[in-house]
Amino acid sequence: MIRLHKGPPPDILVNKAAEWTKEYKDALAAKTMTDTIRYRYRHADIKLALRRDSHNKCIYCESDIGFGQIDHIHPVTKCPDEIVLWENLALVCPECNTHKSDYHAPTEPLINPFVHEPSAHLLFLGSMVVAVLGDAMGLRTLKQMNLNRWDLIQKRTKRLERLVPLIEQWRAHPDGATKTILRNAIRDEASDAMDYAATVRAYLKGVLGWDHPPDASAPDTAVATSG
Ligand SMILES: [Zn+2]
Repeated sequence: MIRLHKGPPPDILVNKAAEWTKEYKDALAAKTMTDTIRYRYRHADIKLALRRDSHNKCIYCESDIGFGQIDHIHPVTKCPDEIVLWENLALVCPECNTHKSDYHAPTEPLINPFVHEPSAHLLFLGSMVVAVLGDAMGLRTLKQMNLNRWDLIQKRTKRLERLVPLIEQWRAHPDGATKTILRNAIRDEASDAMDYAATVRAYLKGVLGWDHPPDASAPDTAVATSG
């Protein structure tokens, strides 16, 4: 899980959110709900904007999303006013959506990567995720979302296994343009758009001392030449 930022809402929501919300609440009250009214948040323009903001990944587990689902961060069963609220919509994988279910506890929220800095609450240790000791929000999120489910452990492990040869190549190379290209390639592996970026960032910090984003005052080559 990495920190994310909400871009502007799509025009369809700017123009229709209030009308759609009223229709939804009226249909709820009158028991005249239809799929059209219920699922307006699945509009293609909305999904496109959500994909942009989540870098085509599940906002919780960072798995690449083929056919992702739109999640209401606050479940609509508890917060019907937020059925098409832009800040309440996010793209998630089916597994995370299932685990999250309709969890809602206003004073004990889960990590919302659009609001919270996940690395303040979760530590990525190799392919595992643990909560920062004593951090209740980290612990809740870890357990509710089951962020150490077996398929995720396997995928994060494969991710790191792909990274190690690149690091070895970079380390072995003499200083120069090629080494810089290899270093940048490693940096790219930790970028927002890459799957399991939090795992990669923590690994690079742990084995190379690299911060993300890079700290300009501490050149990456310092570790290479001293090691
Ligand atoms: Zn997920």
